[in-house]
Amino acid sequence: MAENPKKKSRQYSINYLKFGFIASPTNQRLPFCLLCNQVFSNEGMKPSRMCGHLTKKHPDKKDKDLKYFQTLIKQFANRSSIDGMINKITTKNDDGFVVSYNIFLLIAKCGKPHTTGEKLILPAIREVISTVMHQDASSVVRSIPLSNNSVLRRIEELAIDVEQQLCKVLQTTELALQLDESTLRDNETLLMAYVRYIHNGVSKEEMLFTVV
Ligand SMILES: [Zn+2]
Repeated sequence: MAENPKKKSRQYSINYLKFGFIASPTNQRLPFCLLCNQVFSNEGMKPSRMCGHLTKKHPDKKDKDLKYFQTLIKQFANRSSIDGMINKITTKNDDGFVVSYNIFLLIAKCGKPHTTGEKLILPAIREVISTVMHQDASSVVRSIPLSNNSVLRRIEELAIDVEQQLCKVLQTTELALQLDESTLRDNETLLMAYVRYIHNGVSKEEMLFTVV
């Protein structure tokens, strides 16, 4: 058969889903296999070609019903949005730092040891990415500095920043100082200094310092 110079482009039909194919998200004219995530040429947009691919490359899936492939579409859509998220994280190094600061803050707020980041949170992130998202976790984990030393450094930086902010406010406002004393477990005495002040019309109380 002579080739038509103005070859007709084949269109995707929803009927092709039963072969495990959708139209490629980046080019609707190209078939995309949901099982191996391969994109084929427009020539492959033929029921016989798609059926052939399914039976040859994915013989264990050839008897799956439409529902199975509909679930695959949903999983693919979720994965695509997660992929986008992961790409953003890995390409923007700054985001890794923002995430790590936010995680340090969570660790500090919960009063957990600074080793929690390296011991628990990083392995948990790695587990979610590899098991739930079926992605390679290493690039994401690498972009989030959460080693013990980093956490310690960040917590110190956050503490210094909080102290500086408080001192800045106290320099320009009237305050009430309250001193209190407590005893630690090994009979050491603790002197605690609290300040009360009004900031932006709101009454605030903060711990200023403690001395053992
Ligand atoms: Zn395939």
